[in-house]
Amino acid sequence: MKYDVVVIGSGPGGYVAAIRCAQLGMKTAIVEKYSTLGGTCLNVGCIPSKALLDSSEHFHAAQHKFEKHGIELENLKVNFPQMISRKQGVVDQMTKGVDFLMKKNKIDVHTGMGSFVNKNTILVKGEEEVTLETDKVIIATGSKPASLPGMEIDKDRIISSTEALSLPDLPESMVIIGGGVIGLELGSVYARLGTKVDVVEYMDSIIPTMDRGLGKELNRVLKKLGLKFHLSHKVTSVTNNGKSVTVKAEGKKGEIALEADYCLVSVGRRPYTDGLNLEAAGLKTDDRGRIEVNDHLQTAVPNIYAIGDVVRGAMLAHKAEEEGVLVAETMAGQKPHIDYNLIPGVVYTWPEVASVGQTEEQLKEKSIAYKTGQFAFRANGGAVAGMDLDGFVKILSDEETDEVLGVHIIGPRAADLIAEAVVAMEFRASAEDIARMSHAHPTTSEVTKEAALAATGNRAIHM
Ligand code: FAD
Ligand code: NAD
Repeated sequence: MKYDVVVIGSGPGGYVAAIRCAQLGMKTAIVEKYSTLGGTCLNVGCIPSKALLDSSEHFHAAQHKFEKHGIELENLKVNFPQMISRKQGVVDQMTKGVDFLMKKNKIDVHTGMGSFVNKNTILVKGEEEVTLETDKVIIATGSKPASLPGMEIDKDRIISSTEALSLPDLPESMVIIGGGVIGLELGSVYARLGTKVDVVEYMDSIIPTMDRGLGKELNRVLKKLGLKFHLSHKVTSVTNNGKSVTVKAEGKKGEIALEADYCLVSVGRRPYTDGLNLEAAGLKTDDRGRIEVNDHLQTAVPNIYAIGDVVRGAMLAHKAEEEGVLVAETMAGQKPHIDYNLIPGVVYTWPEVASVGQTEEQLKEKSIAYKTGQFAFRANGGAVAGMDLDGFVKILSDEETDEVLGVHIIGPRAADLIAEAVVAMEFRASAEDIARMSHAHPTTSEVTKEAALAATGNRAIHM
């Protein structure tokens, strides 16, 4: 079979690239080794984790907030198998949606492991073997969970996010290694359902790569939820005892030993290129296992492009999607551009955490003079009505020009609120531009306006 483009991998990078290629008139095929499309994000990532976050948040609200609202419940309990089954229903619906989009855009789907025979030929080993000839290739093979040196994720008691999304029973206790995005999202799910959760983090803060103010506030809130943090601790061993697991870690005050039903390892993910036979195409990976690309996401072999988690940059679904579109449009002779500084990052805990642009730490490191405007949700009518009092919006703007350089939010629906900041920064707005725009009352978006007012001459109204 002969194609203009073959995309390897059907995650948000791959399937979006395939759709955009087809829209631009290219004869397109997509190769996926799993029986369902959608990659990590739809099958074992963004979508199932958000489904469980939502279910567990409902339970937590029913348990801790309903009474104050004047709603009384009796015999409230968790039906964990039903929660997991609803999550699977959401995943199935989403992956079938990708099947539909492939058909609608006349994209051929080849199920099986794809590997290079040469730079223009892909062998697909599925139930049958198929050879695809193609002008161009897009590698979108994503990532897999990383493990710690000398420690094996045995998928039994020592698990990754994939297993944590489909546990057979609600665990009584869980040790999580890594206080990053996965650890805190899944830690929140289980803590809300009643699991005792301990988080062991190597750095001195949780979510250490985000603006430090966010990690500090999130730490405070998640402690109230029951998560116990062991910061500045280096894990030294993890042992599967059969029905439990023991995690040992070394901190400044000596060694701790934690025993739990499960140990979730969430210390990052690694680019995945196993079995691709990159050498046959004349490609190799860098020292971190990534495929090297230029600004057009083109590899060292000009007809081969790579996108998403398998290349440099944040491992985020929306980043992979933008890259899929960029590559398709580049192939079609257009000149698209991605501003990586404006790709927002979100942690779907409650309250949510969302950021775009530069952190205070980055601005200090680059010696950029900046102003800060910060406003708390507890002074906002919408937040008080919803009993969501934790968190704040922080706006960083250029000391001289007032241009917004970074927005960092921890608060209710921060994931949605950050969109305003992305738009503002895309159009190079000043903090005063945001401050002068009308924000509907009573909404939590008013907190962004107040933070912008605070950044522009300390003019917040309700502080
Ligand atoms: P992937 O989604 O990993 O897809 C790659 C696909 O390629 C896979 O289906 C794989 O089977 C296939 N493949 C690999 N090799 C071959 C081969 N040789 N032949 C055929 N097929 C192959 N990001 C967000 O933005 N928001 C979130 O809320 C979010 N939540 C997450 C929650 C969890 C628990 C996890 C693990 C990740 C989460 N992410 C989230 C990250 C997000 O899932 C990834 O950034 C995104 O899926 C990357 O997309 P991709 O297309 O590069 O690769
Ligand atoms: P992460 O990079 O977010 O967090 C890993 C954490 O583990 C870090 O805080 C790190 O300091 C810590 N760590 C590393 N080695 C350690 C050790 N030996 N002992 C203790 N702690 C250690 O990685 P993750 O949470 O595994 O997530 C993987 C990727 O998936 C991320 O890049 C993220 O972008 C993506 N993801 C995104 C979302 C989202 O957008 N909401 C959700 C889940 C995952």
